[in-house]
Amino acid sequence: MAKEVIKVANLEKYYQKRHVLHEINFSIHEGEVVTLLGPSGSGKSTLIRCLNGLEPYQKGDVIFNGEKVVPTEKNWQQIRQKIGMVFQSYDLFPNLTVLENILLGPVKVQHQSREEAKVNAERLLAQVGLQDYENVYPRQLSGGQKQRIAIVRALALKPELMLFDEVTASLDPEMVRGVLNIISNLAQDSNMTMIVVTHEMNFAQQIADRVLFLEDGHILEQTKGDQFFKQPQTDRAKAFLESMD
Ligand code: ADP
Ligand code: MG
Repeated sequence: MAKEVIKVANLEKYYQKRHVLHEINFSIHEGEVVTLLGPSGSGKSTLIRCLNGLEPYQKGDVIFNGEKVVPTEKNWQQIRQKIGMVFQSYDLFPNLTVLENILLGPVKVQHQSREEAKVNAERLLAQVGLQDYENVYPRQLSGGQKQRIAIVRALALKPELMLFDEVTASLDPEMVRGVLNIISNLAQDSNMTMIVVTHEMNFAQQIADRVLFLEDGHILEQTKGDQFFKQPQTDRAKAFLESMD
């Protein structure tokens, strides 16, 4: 059995008095691709953000690589170096070139040598078809290109886990496919462990080893990918899938 990269045990999350995540339990093994699905407002982003310390939780544990995270900011900063995250909005630094955006974390934070980091960055840029863009500034890129750079920037840190939160939601339709293809390739070729939140159901079905279906802050289903799409166990999941057609 592959090693357990992340485990969540009895996690509960409130925003002030509002209880938004209830008894969350799951674990993800190395190389597994889990899609986190559910209606808008069900708590997907909140859950993802709890996994790398961007949101505090009030009960339960996150266990990363077998070690319970003691949730101090200092510990989370260390763990975030091993967890890549890409959001809906690409937050590239506008005053830095593509290459400098990518090198910042590996060189400044992880103290990789600049030469080594650059070789790695160029390899990753070629993988996403943007090898000719290293000296370009973010404003010169399309939304889809920015999002591909954001993915490269996260991968440059050699993460053990990647979190994707609706990375195509703000893209023009013609840009979506290219970004999804990169994530699919990553899922298939690199054995990357990842949690993917998406509204693209065909894509979800194609990449998911397992689906977590969230509603109102509860995990209603945890099933193998093909099974979830062919034969959801709950009426809520059925209704959700029908609404996404
Ligand atoms: P999803 O990503 O599935 O759309 P979210 O995690 O964004 O869901 O939201 C889950 C619930 O928490 C929603 O009811 C939302 O309104 C609420 N929520 C999200 N962020 C905050 C916040 N910063 N403060 C208070 N409530 C929030
Ligand atoms: Mg969200």
